[in-house]
Amino acid sequence: MRRYQPALRLALVAVAGLCVVAAAVAQRSLGYQDTPLLPGGKWHVHDGERPQPRVVTPGTASTPEQPGQPPSDAIVLFDGTNLERWHDGKGQPSRWKVENGVLVATPGAGNLVTRDEFGDCQLHLEWAAPNPPTGEGQDRGNSGVILFGRYEIQVLDSYNARTYPDGQAAALYGQYPPLVNACRKPGEWQTYDIIFTAPRFRDGEVETPAYATVLHNGVVVHNHTALLGAVAHRALAQYAPHGAKGPLVLQDHGCPVRYRNLWIRELGGYDEQ
Ligand code: MG
Repeated sequence: MRRYQPALRLALVAVAGLCVVAAAVAQRSLGYQDTPLLPGGKWHVHDGERPQPRVVTPGTASTPEQPGQPPSDAIVLFDGTNLERWHDGKGQPSRWKVENGVLVATPGAGNLVTRDEFGDCQLHLEWAAPNPPTGEGQDRGNSGVILFGRYEIQVLDSYNARTYPDGQAAALYGQYPPLVNACRKPGEWQTYDIIFTAPRFRDGEVETPAYATVLHNGVVVHNHTALLGAVAHRALAQYAPHGAKGPLVLQDHGCPVRYRNLWIRELGGYDEQ
């Protein structure tokens, strides 16, 4: 037994040494404050004192049969059951229908407007154009997603269907066509993922325009595009000053477009808890 003691001592010294090294490595992985300051002068490069980002449980993807789960901090605007979060534009309950967990644009019922207002945001929604399709051009599955009640991302059946490009599906209506046409067939569920930065106004003038990044069925169709102003038909878009938040509006354009799985996350800045 005794002849093992020197080896044991060596092993203990080695373990102790490893612990010291591990502690030093752990300390370094927690951060530094002897590093350069980042722009803004508040945090160092790798600063361990910088606030830890809030934890969000991610959602799940939808299938054709079943809408996915939203991220844990999303505000669910429509979960398949009711229109509590919406009104008809005049504060009254909307006549849009809820059928089998799906929201259906109801011709003549007018636009659907959220009761709450939102600023910079991430918006997810799914829509399906009527099947079989009816109508042509702007009469074929027309609806719209209108942020702040002013900035429209077009909903239209543009699958093997032609219209003016800045009015087709996923267009920033009257301003920019989508980069590509990523439409699915009428009747199939399609996704919009929209990251929207509201415009800022100062003294009645545009300080910074609105910006939209849009993915249609997972395909980027607008990449941080600056909007020219509020939606307009046969006219040039212009800005009119408004507040930091506004309602989300779904357009009744006379077509029974279906919606499901609408959720929104308001976006704050870095290091905000
Ligand atoms: Mg429209």
